[in-house]
Amino acid sequence: MAASRTTPSSSLRNSSTSLDLKVEALPGVGDGSAKLLERLGIRTIGDLLWHLPTRYLDYADIRPVRHLIAEREQTTEAIVGAIGQRRTARGQMLTEVELLDPADMRPSGVKATWFGRQFIKERFREGQLIRLSGKATWFGRSLQLSNPQVEAADAERVHTGRMVPVYRLTEGLKEGHLRRWLHTAVEGGPKRSPVVTEVPDELPPAIRDRRELLPLPEALKEVHFPSTDARLIEGRRRLAFDELLTLQLGLAQRRARWQKNAKAPTLTAPDADVRRWIEALPFTLTDGQHAAFAEIRADIGRTIPMSRLLEGDVGSGKTVVAALAARIAVAAGTQAALMAPTELLAEQHFRTLTLLFAEGGPAVRLLTSSVSAPDRREILAGLAEGTLDVVVGTHALVVEGVTFKTLGLAVVDEQHRFGVRQRTTLREKGVDPHLLLTTATPIPRTLTQTIYRDLDLSVLQELPAGRQEIRTEVRKPEALAKVWPWLREHVASGDQAFIVTPRIDPADGEDDAPSAIDTYEELRHGALKGLRIALLHGRMPAKERDAVMRAFAGGELDVLVATTVVEVGIDVPNATVMVILGAERFGLAQLHQLRGRIGRGEKRSVAVLVSDEAGGSERLAAMVERKDGKPLDGFALAQRDLDIRGAGEFLGDEQSGLGEELRIVDLRDVDPRLARETAEDADAILAADPTLEKPEHAGLARAVEALWRRYALA
Ligand code: ADP
Ligand code: MG
Repeated sequence: MAASRTTPSSSLRNSSTSLDLKVEALPGVGDGSAKLLERLGIRTIGDLLWHLPTRYLDYADIRPVRHLIAEREQTTEAIVGAIGQRRTARGQMLTEVELLDPADMRPSGVKATWFGRQFIKERFREGQLIRLSGKATWFGRSLQLSNPQVEAADAERVHTGRMVPVYRLTEGLKEGHLRRWLHTAVEGGPKRSPVVTEVPDELPPAIRDRRELLPLPEALKEVHFPSTDARLIEGRRRLAFDELLTLQLGLAQRRARWQKNAKAPTLTAPDADVRRWIEALPFTLTDGQHAAFAEIRADIGRTIPMSRLLEGDVGSGKTVVAALAARIAVAAGTQAALMAPTELLAEQHFRTLTLLFAEGGPAVRLLTSSVSAPDRREILAGLAEGTLDVVVGTHALVVEGVTFKTLGLAVVDEQHRFGVRQRTTLREKGVDPHLLLTTATPIPRTLTQTIYRDLDLSVLQELPAGRQEIRTEVRKPEALAKVWPWLREHVASGDQAFIVTPRIDPADGEDDAPSAIDTYEELRHGALKGLRIALLHGRMPAKERDAVMRAFAGGELDVLVATTVVEVGIDVPNATVMVILGAERFGLAQLHQLRGRIGRGEKRSVAVLVSDEAGGSERLAAMVERKDGKPLDGFALAQRDLDIRGAGEFLGDEQSGLGEELRIVDLRDVDPRLARETAEDADAILAADPTLEKPEHAGLARAVEALWRRYALA
């Protein structure tokens, strides 16, 4: 399995093989080379085999020397003619070899040249038949191969005449050497059988047959030294299969652990009551809200604990859906907890719930660090005794500090994922609550088929009717001279504005990204002098931050200069202007979230993205792109973000390692068939052997364990 490639796991095998030998055991690898390889994490021959090519040079196109084509990678065989060496105008040593056509031994008109490669002269002699691969270019009226790969025509094809692998290197390590060592490991050498044949294939043979996968040693061989394009694809498919299967097994087990011996309370309420609650809302639910609520209601009516992710764009109305679910939990005689990422957001949710639950609704309390000691005691007692129905607080406070009588539903707001550790902590509170996560970052399909497979999804596709579109413009920094007066006009007419910067302090980092502190100081003494302006960033004490945000929300401030702490901030309907400085430094999903802080009221809102790269950035262009007459929605932007930045950055935090650890599979572009097949096989394997303890699954179990250990999620 792919995950057993790391050295530590090789020590788990009992019988030792050549795979466990130090790289020095390979001919040509000395102490110095071993040190260089160690920098790439390669100590044993087994490690070396898992150092996979990053790309290939396609030298499989072989033509006679007189038929070489300009500007194309190709291979030819020729006789070494005159060898000359001279210094170029810049003082570099240039070796020139005249190439003779083997058919008639006459000059072919093509020359091969190498810069500073003394050894060419030592390795080859006139009259020798050699094989060269590279790109031919016109040099005056004759073709020339510049710095081609070369080997004797009767030598095995390692560097020429085939698909040639290219590897990640480290300084001092020569590409040709590394390729040679891998070739020896994969193809063997004189009197030496290839080590690759010893790589254990841990995939159950039945799966390998059904999915028509190459045996692992063969797959590795094809990935390092492909015999054809088609075989390379087959080889990669096998490695990708292993990687995805490991991931799917791990995720399925994680989900199973959460659901095992389930003691979740069944949460139900009479239809008539539910209808009454919905009718009492100050607005009509969208179809999406109805559908999501129905899915959640079905889940929490069972004893299997729910693990559901409710995703919907900023402002799509996730809170009310969560609130209705909480209300069912309370009606069923249990408690509900709503957890937010910040105290401020917790306060907002508290107000929302209080409003939504109005008369006859459940009792709600807010638990933050600023609650007085007596209040806190009272809340904790109420939760422990079961006299308090619903608590709203931050993730940390509620998960770590609270004991419930019977927690039926835990809602975790604005988190893609709720860590295994946190779930375990919740579980330790006695019951297994139903878990509802919400996120405004839509999860692209390729991710829901892979690393989000342990969660069920509900999606709010549309915003409630009547939302204002936010006009978005991209501007160069020079335009700020006009932006600030324009912003003043908005403030003069009673609006409020956000100014967002990518960093806090000018001292953070060497680059010249706009900082909140500088921008604030500059503007309040300059272009925005006289306005009520404040600073907000993550390094301010939480209390101070709250005070500033509260003042802004209360209309006591005109302008807020802030970092991304406003990203999932408070609802301020009066804020209609957002200027984002250094906009190219934010991810697309982040820009979209930020922009979602405005456009929440009746008035028309405008976002100005300021960037040096105003013309050239793919991301900024996506922010103003329109499709079918509308701006791209959060889903389209999230997919773009994933495409542009890759899974690691897209996912952030805890789960990013999951994407980055994969070597073959690119989470941006997972073959849907492979995702489906590995999911099916993982389910089937676990149905027969839930804990992977059967001997034939030992290899799979090791692979899953290694994977999870690497992510430190176990
Ligand atoms: P988010 O999905 O970003 O968490 P919220 O739940 O905060 O969004 O809802 C955003 C705003 O939309 C709130 O002011 C909420 O009262 C309002 N809202 C929610 N659902 C509807 C609806 N069906 N019709 C009109 N307004 C709604
Ligand atoms: Mg929300």
